Amino acid sequence: MGSRWSPVGRFVRGTVVVQRRRCGKPNCHCASGEALHETTVLSYSERGRSRVVVLPPGQVDAVRAAVERYRAAQRRLEEQANAGLGGLVGAWGGRSQKAQPPRTASPPRARPSMGSSPGSGRRAPQP
Ligand SMILES: [Zn+2]
Repeated sequence: MGSRWSPVGRFVRGTVVVQRRRCGKPNCHCASGEALHETTVLSYSERGRSRVVVLPPGQVDAVRAAVERYRAAQRRLEEQANAGLGGLVGAWGGRSQKAQPPRTASPPRARPSMGSSPGSGRRAPQP
């Protein structure tokens, strides 16, 4: 997997970011702090965590295009959804009611479970 994959024509979620850093070698050109090493990564979030994938240099432009393609499609979808909402409200909005609080507002209580809790039914074994 991986190396044959191409972002061309695809949608990619995330952000292309150029990271600049020093490698730590004292003799390297980066030690002066001016010519730092640049690594281009795709930054994305997965289950609330931010992650990065280092991009192969030859693929950076294609990944940027794929990210932009996704954003453009997202915008188009948003516009269509808003237009759809506008049409729906225009057609049926006269019958609209006041927004009601959702019925699922009260979360199910975690009841203190009797009987199954450890310790309640335990007795010291009689010899
Ligand atoms: Zn260096």
